[in-house]
Amino acid sequence: MDGAPGIPRTRHPLHPTSLAPDIPCTRHPLLTRVREKQSGVALNSPMAAVSPNFATADHAPGPKPPVETAPVPAARLTDGLGRVIHDLRVSITDRCNYKCVYCRTGELGAQFPELGIDEYLRLIGIFVSLGITKVRLTGGEPLLRPGIVKLVQELARLHTPNGEPLDLALTTNGHLLDGLAEPLKAAGLRRVTVSMDAVDAPTFERITRVPGSFSAVLAGIRAARAAGLEPLKINCVLLRGFNDDQIEGFAHFARQEGVVVRFIEFMPLEEGRLWTPEIVVPLAEIVERIGRVLPLVKLEPREASETARRYGFEDGIGEIGIIAPVSQAFCGACSRVRLTSDGKIRTCLFSQVEHDLYGRLRGGASDAELAGYIAHVVRGKEPRHHIGEPGFLKPSRSMVHIGG
Ligand code: SAM
Repeated sequence: MDGAPGIPRTRHPLHPTSLAPDIPCTRHPLLTRVREKQSGVALNSPMAAVSPNFATADHAPGPKPPVETAPVPAARLTDGLGRVIHDLRVSITDRCNYKCVYCRTGELGAQFPELGIDEYLRLIGIFVSLGITKVRLTGGEPLLRPGIVKLVQELARLHTPNGEPLDLALTTNGHLLDGLAEPLKAAGLRRVTVSMDAVDAPTFERITRVPGSFSAVLAGIRAARAAGLEPLKINCVLLRGFNDDQIEGFAHFARQEGVVVRFIEFMPLEEGRLWTPEIVVPLAEIVERIGRVLPLVKLEPREASETARRYGFEDGIGEIGIIAPVSQAFCGACSRVRLTSDGKIRTCLFSQVEHDLYGRLRGGASDAELAGYIAHVVRGKEPRHHIGEPGFLKPSRSMVHIGG
């Protein structure tokens, strides 16, 4: 296990006994065996402690259906507005080897501690038992983290409560991907998203403030495709007057490299103070500009919680996406929750509060207690963000320290 520098090893003041009282965590062993037989759900699994479906089946009047005809109820982690949360983003370090000018002030170091790989594994396993079906590793720069291949290998062994393998993805700046794409694929990683904010080397290196970064990332993208980490997505954050001259170039790049380029509207999540509404390049403008050089057709969303609006090129070769959290917010269909590198749950990118899951783990909480706490926290997920509204407060951490 690699260490967690800076994390206090003493008992956390928020001891597990202070967990939400509405979530039962202890059961009589005999009752447990009877209920397992009736429901087909292992009661020592955290899901059993919180699944509303389980509770309903458990208390239904009349005879229970025989085990072989009783479907295992799907775990559904649901917030207070009824949104099903199935997507977990986990930051495994807040260190980054790039100093992208729109994201960082120029410091490289970590601000927050990291957990051990086995601790991320335990926490992610509990989220998965609650109904998370997709896990995205991020950071900081996740490829800086020793032990990432082992983490992926272990995560790839997890299954959702429905028996499906986990949808395991990674977001990276791609700088170290050339050497890691194959081992990660062999370990069980399914997909990679590479961040890239320009398609010409000088502009790219002005943004990252790292010489040689463009050729390293290009090599990483090609290595990932060669390893079969597909569909490979490229995320590009656009800022007006800064890199919006790259839009058309990215459309050609998508087709030449066989990747899906997704433009992201800039959000007020930077370490410094750069964001204004005027600096955001909105979806409509991107579509219009690309359409002038390469006609586009709108594609249907594959799922309601999909963040990107998808467009294909009219000749059928290639695809782009636009993620428009500012001009066309998608909070109503949000299915995400985040775990920071130091083990705090964030229910929204723009949360003003964090929830100390790791403190409970260090305090000796059982899996069922941690599951109960997660379910309790998720129920309080914010309805939406308030970007651009009067009184908007920047979140308590910037993107690099939350995990994008
Ligand atoms: N280091 C990895 C990478 O570069 O992909 C993962 C972390 S990075 C913070 C994740 C993504 O967040 C990147 O695509 C980055 O461009 C994006 N990002 C950073 N600051 C942002 C902001 N203020 N608004 C929108 N996206 C942002």
